[in-house]
Amino acid sequence: MSYQLVNPATAEAMETIEHTSLDQTDDAIAQAKSAQRHWAGLAPAERAEILRSFADAVAKDVENLAALEVRNSGHPISQARWEANHVRNVLEYYAGAPERLMGKQIPVAGGIDITFHEPLGVVGIITPWNFPMTIASWGFAPALAAGNAVIVKPAEWTPLTTIRLGELAREAGVPEGVFQVLPGRGSVIGNRFVTHEDVRKVVFTGSTEVGKTIMRGAADQIKRVTLELGGKSANIVFADADVDKAAATAPSSVFENAGQDCCARSRILVEASVYDRFMQGLEKSVAAFAVGDPTKDETEMGPLVTSVHRDSVASFVDDDKVAFRGSAPTGPGNWFAPTVLAPTSLDDRCMREEIFGPVVAVVPFKDEAEALEIANSTEYGLSGSIWTRDVGRVIRVARGVESGNLSVNSHSSVRYSTPFGGFKQSGLGRELGPDAPLHFTEEKNVFIPND
Ligand code: NAP
Ligand code: MG
Repeated sequence: MSYQLVNPATAEAMETIEHTSLDQTDDAIAQAKSAQRHWAGLAPAERAEILRSFADAVAKDVENLAALEVRNSGHPISQARWEANHVRNVLEYYAGAPERLMGKQIPVAGGIDITFHEPLGVVGIITPWNFPMTIASWGFAPALAAGNAVIVKPAEWTPLTTIRLGELAREAGVPEGVFQVLPGRGSVIGNRFVTHEDVRKVVFTGSTEVGKTIMRGAADQIKRVTLELGGKSANIVFADADVDKAAATAPSSVFENAGQDCCARSRILVEASVYDRFMQGLEKSVAAFAVGDPTKDETEMGPLVTSVHRDSVASFVDDDKVAFRGSAPTGPGNWFAPTVLAPTSLDDRCMREEIFGPVVAVVPFKDEAEALEIANSTEYGLSGSIWTRDVGRVIRVARGVESGNLSVNSHSSVRYSTPFGGFKQSGLGRELGPDAPLHFTEEKNVFIPND
């Protein structure tokens, strides 16, 4: 089996990727199992040094990695460069972890009691196609730092940067078998991570539907899972906010990466008294949003990842609900203009389901209580933004929104030094931040008597 990649911006056929078979997956798991023992046995400083070399190798390859992501995924070059640099930063940050994986010494009678953070063994990481290299790094960097071997299964549509990261790891001195990349099908390789007893944890980022299947499967072996799933995040704009700034910045919070972002603020809730003013500002900022050739520095939004996905996004847009649209190139490529919907019902499909494209729905609300009610009326809870100048309201609303990652008067999403993850059906567990390596360990308690 193999898969023919297609450049999303030009519709030109690119390289063909051979799929990893079930037998090859089993061989990779066996290799990872034996390589992990050696990796975990290295001195902490030595593991740290190898991770720093890996970070350096990524730093030297930023232009190449970014160009691969532009060709394979259609990400604008400026964002693809940010993503490659982010992988470097994540590796550098977690290179500090091997020497800081400290346990506790607990006062007990008759001896000493100490705890250790032991690596799990082999970790399987399954990534989606929207941010291939960054999301892979959130799993592999802390997992490797904690002494695990890692196997990454990239999404079938976007394997190129992950394959390259696998090569860079080897060149940087990560021992053979410790970090492997297996391109191919989720139903084959990803599912094998779930069923194989030597894979001790599965980190899955993708749809809520597949996440549920993985969690069910993991129950058979009480296998550890981290799940990062879908989102339908709210951007809440109160009348006392800097409404012009909120309108000017809203497009980047939902149309970045063509809306193929689990943190996309795809529902904008606007206090009714400033709704018209907000929509006027939004129309201008959407018209100015630069959609086009992803190889150009000034491009803010490229094409959708595949034509299949473009058709799925299009199915959410009824012309009679469109308030206005931005622009997009015509001709070959999976182009879709940024689209603003003004649904009349909160039950509309565009208010409930994750579209994962450059489509945003804007609805008015009457007061704070109604804003919270609408924001929380979804099974998801990943991110969100709150626009107001009232400090008390910031506290009330930030505590009231059922979501893992919020930003106030801004749309910041992911920082590698802070925890990231979802409430409700947006996920289970947290990635990134100072504690991430601990999520790839088991805590062991040891008592040693005095006599
Ligand atoms: P998806 O269909 O769930 O696929 C994600 C990954 O899982 C792919 O590598 C896929 O392989 C694999 N997979 C599919 N079926 C599997 C199975 N039965 N067992 C094991 N692995 C399996 O999601 P997607 O369409 O790629 O990505 C879009 C979704 O990801 C959105 O819902 C989005 O919100 C979510 N997402 C969440 C976050 C977050 O951090 N919370 C971040 C990014 C994306 P194939 O390539 O073979 O299909
Ligand atoms: Mg899918």
